[in-house]
Amino acid sequence: TTTISIKLETDVARREFIDKFDAFLLDCDGVIWEEEIVLPGVHETLKYLRSKGKQLLFVTNNSTRSRDAYLAKFQRLGIEAYVDEIFGSAYASAYYLKNVLDFPSDKKVYVIGESGITDELAAEGIQYIGSAADNESLKSMDFSKIVPDPEVGAVLCGFDLYVNYLKFAKAFTYLHSNPNCLFLLTNNDTTYPANGSIFPGTGSLAAPLVTALNRKPHCVIGKPNKPMLDCIVKKFHLDVKRTCMIGDRLDTDIQFGINGGISSLLVLTGVSQEKEILANDASIVPDYYIKSLGDFATIIE
Ligand code: PLP
Ligand code: CA
Repeated sequence: TTTISIKLETDVARREFIDKFDAFLLDCDGVIWEEEIVLPGVHETLKYLRSKGKQLLFVTNNSTRSRDAYLAKFQRLGIEAYVDEIFGSAYASAYYLKNVLDFPSDKKVYVIGESGITDELAAEGIQYIGSAADNESLKSMDFSKIVPDPEVGAVLCGFDLYVNYLKFAKAFTYLHSNPNCLFLLTNNDTTYPANGSIFPGTGSLAAPLVTALNRKPHCVIGKPNKPMLDCIVKKFHLDVKRTCMIGDRLDTDIQFGINGGISSLLVLTGVSQEKEILANDASIVPDYYIKSLGDFATIIE
């Protein structure tokens, strides 16, 4: 079966679309903002959706910020948002460890990643080691401090500007020495957009571990995978039939909607382009697409 995407070109189509849903899951980068700049019309669209009583949830794969740090960003950009509406892959990972995996309180998580992850683990009462404590790598091939630790029950890898050999060697050792140690990624994005270009993403940072261990992670939390949506549905009791994912990336956001059985809307202000969904061999096709989230501002009376 071929699926075709409905382009929301008229105000009638845009209104009908909004009426179909009670909850919108909004990707952030490429949909709401581009780094520190809010995209045109987005302030107006988000206010309009709130005025219509829609539930808004912000769903980002970027693991570098905790929910509180995202809240500060929303405030800085003048966008109304509440901590409970923010679902980053750092928070989702901590939530998943605690509430889905029942991570034991006497075990620790070894973290490759930044304060977004460690802050959220701490908030869930999960013990961790690594992260900034290992920002200084080995100066020589002195491996005496890299030894198995049976208390490490999981390795969680997210985005880390200070990724280094010490972190890889420790993470590898905990996983290699203990078949019960869980291997988790916050997200698996191969790249992410920044400064008008793209750069290696978390999936690329985790690749050395995948190669060394010769196996895939047990679980990748972020979009397009189910754990992220399971956390959101569990926490907010969403009616999946009246929920729509809005994103700029086919292989994460739109695939996330498809995997979760929810509708999806692609915006063309980020990574994926119109020609990719119109191609004859298109494999990931959103239910709807629109040039930008800000285009909904045309229906505001
Ligand atoms: N990962 C990192 C490290 C990022 O900086 C970003 C975007 O800035 C992403 C992932 C993608 O985030 P989103 O899911 O909001 O597009
Ligand atoms: Ca995005």
